Amino acid sequence: MQGYIIDLKVVKDDDLIVTLLCENELITSYRFYGARHSNINIGYKIDFELEKTKSSIPRLKDVIQLGFPWILNNQKMYAWQRYLKLFYPHLKELEDLEPFYFFLLDNLVSKIEKQNVLRAILESYLLLLDHEGRLHTDFECLICEIKINSNLSMIRGFLPVHKECIRGKVFDYKKIKEFFLTKKSINLNDNEVENLFEVLLLGL
Ligand SMILES: [Zn+2]
Repeated sequence: MQGYIIDLKVVKDDDLIVTLLCENELITSYRFYGARHSNINIGYKIDFELEKTKSSIPRLKDVIQLGFPWILNNQKMYAWQRYLKLFYPHLKELEDLEPFYFFLLDNLVSKIEKQNVLRAILESYLLLLDHEGRLHTDFECLICEIKINSNLSMIRGFLPVHKECIRGKVFDYKKIKEFFLTKKSINLNDNEVENLFEVLLLGL
């Protein structure tokens, strides 16, 4: 099987509980510590086998890391790992998973090769919001419920609010509207992209 590592928890003696985002499910597995194991980390895509054990958690074995062309690019890898970590709290309650998430990440891996990593992640995140029916293109303020038609702030999940209704980073209304509708970051400057990424890090 293949999956993306979205959570790692160290348990006794450096053993690990590893949560993987796979095509149809999230898999929680147990990995015994051992010097001969290949290195694993948040965000890695791995090929693996599961072995049933007496405990409720299967053992992770035969792990092969499936590298990305940009895996040695620290800037890209760091942003990717911060993004991948957010999937665990977002999806951990779900038993079955739509294949959407796995393929969204597959596509993002190839986009990051060609594009600025933050822009690629933000554009991918809009697809996630849209898929989950949470992309608010009506621009009604979450706090006062009055329509927004000038510069705005955003809270977790890219929910638009009036800049007067909350103290936060202020964004250009027209640019954000265009970004939400086209899902292209081309007209956003680097500063706006960084500020949007900060909002994204609050949680999916
Ligand atoms: Zn408001």
